[in-house]
Amino acid sequence: MKDIPVARAPLSVLLASLPGVDSLLIHARAQPWIAHYGRDELLGAIRLTLTSIREQIKQVTEPQAPLAQASLAAAASTDSILDGVERRLIARAQPNLRRVINLTGTVLHTNLGRAVMPPEVIQAMAQAAADPCALEYDLGTGKRGDRDELVEDLLCELTGAQAATVVNNNAAAVFLLLHALSNRQETIVSRGELIEIGGAFRIPDIMKRAGARLVEVGTTNRTHAHDFSSAISQKTALLMKVHTSNYAVQGFTASVPEPELASIAHAHSLPFVVDLGAGTLVDLAQYGLPAEPTPRQAIANGADLVTFSGDKLLGGPQAGILVGRRDLIQKIRKNPLKRILRVGKVTLAGLEATLRLYRDPVTLPRKLTVLRLLTRPAAEIQAQAEALMPQWVAPLARVALRVRCQAVQSQIGSGSLPVERLPSAALVFEGVGRAGEKNVVRLEQLLRASDTPVLGRLQDKALILDLRCLQADQQGLFVSTALNAIERLSGS
Ligand SMILES: *Cc1c(COP(=O)(O)O)cnc(C)c1O
Repeated sequence: MKDIPVARAPLSVLLASLPGVDSLLIHARAQPWIAHYGRDELLGAIRLTLTSIREQIKQVTEPQAPLAQASLAAAASTDSILDGVERRLIARAQPNLRRVINLTGTVLHTNLGRAVMPPEVIQAMAQAAADPCALEYDLGTGKRGDRDELVEDLLCELTGAQAATVVNNNAAAVFLLLHALSNRQETIVSRGELIEIGGAFRIPDIMKRAGARLVEVGTTNRTHAHDFSSAISQKTALLMKVHTSNYAVQGFTASVPEPELASIAHAHSLPFVVDLGAGTLVDLAQYGLPAEPTPRQAIANGADLVTFSGDKLLGGPQAGILVGRRDLIQKIRKNPLKRILRVGKVTLAGLEATLRLYRDPVTLPRKLTVLRLLTRPAAEIQAQAEALMPQWVAPLARVALRVRCQAVQSQIGSGSLPVERLPSAALVFEGVGRAGEKNVVRLEQLLRASDTPVLGRLQDKALILDLRCLQADQQGLFVSTALNAIERLSGS
């Protein structure tokens, strides 16, 4: 408080002493900001900062002075106003879509963008974005091509299907299929499979919107072959099986095996379609993961069409994939909604690069990021946690917190393999005493508010950071972010 005369000045004098917009614009500190953010951005930030300080000054009533006046005088100095301007510029320049470190323990987290992709895939997507590409151009003939052809052969090779097409996501794939093949006609589904995926995707609603009439058969826990065959009528267009990917019915249950459903459908010359959801293209059991049905199995079992997501277990960009009989795929492609639901070049480039990795199942778990994360051994994650832990012990003690390693269970996520858990390891931050408990909650908030937010989960008054998805190249950033958050905890 060296500036005593200003501090003691009446509020109106303080208001009048604020630097003007023009003097701030031409201030030496502001010049690099013009180059970096643009003059309009700077002007906006200056105006907002000045408005906010004026409001603060006006809110101070006389009895609060002179203490409040002294601190306001400091805030009204050119330097601190410019600090405020800089903070505003930086905040506005932050992208809205923020990179985060996912330590939630859910590998395919829908709210965190599901599959993280391998370098080969990212490279292909960046290339497609940067340069013109033969998206719908047949380089052999010089004529117009079809964008689906970029991935159709690969999809057929990997699933045993005759033909394939790609749309924006699997919800769109199911919608398009129903609209193209069951409009104003009936689709028969077991009551045990009328699922909600979350985010307002409910099979009955999708059916209705697609113009398909839903015929429910069987009960929640048991559906038999005769339930399907006796429901078939002149109005039937499809028999459908929905993979109940996000829940499991256990106990006294029965469902009709795919080959049997297929033969019932085929005996009536009807297509049998399967919505698989997760859609891994390989047998996950070979990597020690719980088995999940593949499109190849569904097709071998007699399915005429199969739909699945590109960004769940498949490990690629968001997309919905339809594979199956050529005549049915043709019909779907001709539907005008296909044009509305189609994917762009960046998605196709990423999908193609992802599918190519599946040609070698031996290198797949190393190269496909999702599979690498899912197959990380618990012992390796545990060792990572133990190596990181010691450096936090001392700073945590200063804020009444402690950390330990604990065996936890990761989830696959995105409705895949709902009951299965993957053994993993976590750093668990706990409070010592009452102050400590509060600090656990604060630590979670500070980590979430970091430049690169670190996301874990609060459970039983502890913050659990499951390290399964902490990749080697993020580890340094995670460490510095966490230390920073702990430091701020002691500062507050
Ligand atoms: C996830 C899922 C969907 C929706 O797929 P999106 O790619 O999220 O649109 C549809 N059906 C099933 C069975 C699913 O698991």
